Amino acid sequence: MLMPYFLHIREENGLFYALDLGGTNFRVLRVQLAGTEGRILQQEYEEVSIPQALMVGSNEELFDFIVAELASFITREGEGFHPLLGRQRELGFTFSFPVKQTSIDSGNLLKWTKGFAIKETVGKDVVEELQAAMGRHKLDMRVTALVNDTVGTLAGGRYWNEDVMVAVILGTGSNACYVERADAIPKWRGVLPKSGSTVINMEWGSFWSSHLPRTPVDDTLDADSLNPGDQGFEKLISGMYLGDIVRRILLKMAEEAALFGNTVPSNLFIPFILRTPDVSAMHADESADLKEVTRVLRVVFKTQASLRVRKIVVDVCDTVAGRAARLVAAGVVGILKKIGRDTVGNIDMARLKNNLAGKGRKTVVAMDGGLYEHYPKFRTYLNDTAVELLGKEAAEQVAVELSKDGSGIGAALLAASHSQYSSD
Ligand code: BGC
Ligand code: MG
Repeated sequence: MLMPYFLHIREENGLFYALDLGGTNFRVLRVQLAGTEGRILQQEYEEVSIPQALMVGSNEELFDFIVAELASFITREGEGFHPLLGRQRELGFTFSFPVKQTSIDSGNLLKWTKGFAIKETVGKDVVEELQAAMGRHKLDMRVTALVNDTVGTLAGGRYWNEDVMVAVILGTGSNACYVERADAIPKWRGVLPKSGSTVINMEWGSFWSSHLPRTPVDDTLDADSLNPGDQGFEKLISGMYLGDIVRRILLKMAEEAALFGNTVPSNLFIPFILRTPDVSAMHADESADLKEVTRVLRVVFKTQASLRVRKIVVDVCDTVAGRAARLVAAGVVGILKKIGRDTVGNIDMARLKNNLAGKGRKTVVAMDGGLYEHYPKFRTYLNDTAVELLGKEAAEQVAVELSKDGSGIGAALLAASHSQYSSD
């Protein structure tokens, strides 16, 4: 996706909206921008979880549901926000699925990922679908920017700090994007952007290679999934799948080695019953008797196990999360190599002086998503592996920063910079 996204968002003014459709939730936001001061004056949002049935239902139902929530958010127009004075409301649409982007405000869905599977949406322009639903709800609003969540996170991150060069989402799904020199893109057609750079949305979740450390458990997880043969990297690393990988391994051990005694606990057969937050909780358990593991085994699998077996369960969590975090680190380091930010030698001394003066480090990776935010051991493995791959000195020039919910704000900023009312 080659879009000249980059943008002088600091000049924008007024009230903008964003709608962020992710893997599990969607969020609606309003953001008040303070023009030339380049500040976000005020923001507020609401989050709604998407009913599972809608993820695999019909196109119209999904978009109607989203727009109904958006419309009710708008009727509760926030206090302290400046009225729009005759301007049409404008919205940035963060859509966290692979899209063939055709312009800043249009793009066709290539395929659904994560828990979504609605055949009729594939190939359609998702902005048109959203606008059509707005029409059905008599909501007068215009989508001025369509962005992937990685791109929204990057834009949101760069609003505060131009050293943000990479954005990674580690949530239900996973993906990364980064700032690339336009002249380094062989596929580039047309005029180079003024800034000389643009954003590459990698869709790294779909990466698949025989070099990936896959096991038969990954193969069956893939075969049983909504999208077999697709999103191979995502299925090794993202929050939607880690819990189920652990469940499948425990099931195998229960069947082949009587891990939980002579009968296999029946809940072990239920796909996705073990969620990644439970894996994180068991993995983080430092109590001598592994209380948290006992709790999860009881609540989720309706079973109990000896301390020796509980330790094995923790080992399984460690192996699965460790593999994932190390793969993510390899992906991030790959990006840093591609943009020449992986060695100390590349650092320009003038900038470095600024950094030493407290301006922050040279390359910032903005991270968002529940997996990164809520899984401390995962974060530690990721950081340790990055240091291992880059070397300590080079790693010190890289900062990984949690950019919580940056994608929504980023989308609002992009909506503002592509406003029909903007002067340039
Ligand atoms: C989607 C990406 C998205 C990522 C994180 C993946 O499943 O293909 O477009 O950026 O999830 O939400
Ligand atoms: Mg998200």
